[in-house]
Amino acid sequence: MSSKRDYYDILGIGKDADNAEIKKAFRKQAKKYHPDLNPDDHEAEMKFKEVNEAYEVLSDEEKRAKYDRFGHSAFENGGQGFGGAGGFGGAGGFEDIFGDIFGDMFGGGGRQRRQGPRKGADLKIRLNISFEDAAFGTKKEVKVSRMETCSHCGGDGAEPGTSKKTCTTCNGMGSVRSVQNTPFGQFSNVSTCPTCKGTGKIIEEPCRVCHGSGKEKKARKITINIPAGVDSDSIIPLRGEGNHGDKGAPPGDLYVYLNVKSHKLFNRDGYDIWYDMPVSFVTATLGNTVEVPTLEGKVKYHIPEGTQTGTVFRLRNRGIQHLRGGGKGDQYVRVVIDTPTKLTDKQKEILMNFAKEFGENVEPQKKGIFDKVKDAFS
Ligand SMILES: [Zn+2]
Ligand SMILES: [Zn+2]
Repeated sequence: MSSKRDYYDILGIGKDADNAEIKKAFRKQAKKYHPDLNPDDHEAEMKFKEVNEAYEVLSDEEKRAKYDRFGHSAFENGGQGFGGAGGFGGAGGFEDIFGDIFGDMFGGGGRQRRQGPRKGADLKIRLNISFEDAAFGTKKEVKVSRMETCSHCGGDGAEPGTSKKTCTTCNGMGSVRSVQNTPFGQFSNVSTCPTCKGTGKIIEEPCRVCHGSGKEKKARKITINIPAGVDSDSIIPLRGEGNHGDKGAPPGDLYVYLNVKSHKLFNRDGYDIWYDMPVSFVTATLGNTVEVPTLEGKVKYHIPEGTQTGTVFRLRNRGIQHLRGGGKGDQYVRVVIDTPTKLTDKQKEILMNFAKEFGENVEPQKKGIFDKVKDAFS
């Protein structure tokens, strides 16, 4: 005895059904259990196979005759089951039938999917990081609020233990067809069923946590690896860390938009950094070895005699690590003569004598710059 269901019962037709009826019944059942419309539904998958097997036999005159005489035992030793050696082909042609099904489901176009489970949405967050973190790389933990698969119902939407019934609007197909009469002729349009939103099923008792949506909002801590060399407007993609998708569909991605804060000493230009270094008038004039701050501590640098303000020196490989590939940028040091402001009487006298040596006659200023401006306008 075979435990298999009767092929006529599977397709829901009588023993006297003709080819057109068989084809029609097959299309109806195949749509109902199509894997695209029933993702992750093992029962539907089995039924879909069953429906295909029934059609393969009943649509073939010779096989149907054998089946009518011997039942399932006619095929049990022949490896003629669906997907077996017998495979597709024969009268009608499965490809044609499938073409029809997809045509119906997707509005006569190709096989592009317009319904079924949707991928989760991508998320974007903005993250402020320090100049140093951008230069050297770091790990940051961020809090992301995203939609995840409901932990109570597993994304099903129904309260666990309760059942779903077939949608009566679309008879479980998930799509509805409407026909429009226009002066140019009749147009038919297939759209997602508004009652069941394409699932083909109606939830009788919604999940008490997600109220039927299958999703719940969760705050997650996610660790982000920030590579050395990133800059403002760098974007770090984290695959699969966005909103969760519908049951059976992949999650979206999380995009982290970086904003690098400014540094109190350094300015960045690509992978190079610039530093304005105050140098005393004496050092610039006579030359001296000074300490220059860099991202990795101070380095010694000899300022040559007679250095003018605005002179730029380059410290090789003291810039920022390249994001891709090896190497580093450079640090540029721009000399800014630091004019002394608080001088003792003795220092002033020395400078006056210094000026005299150059034939320059300097009278000590009694008035500040604002007083001079006032004088000019009075
Ligand atoms: Zn429906
Ligand atoms: Zn739920």
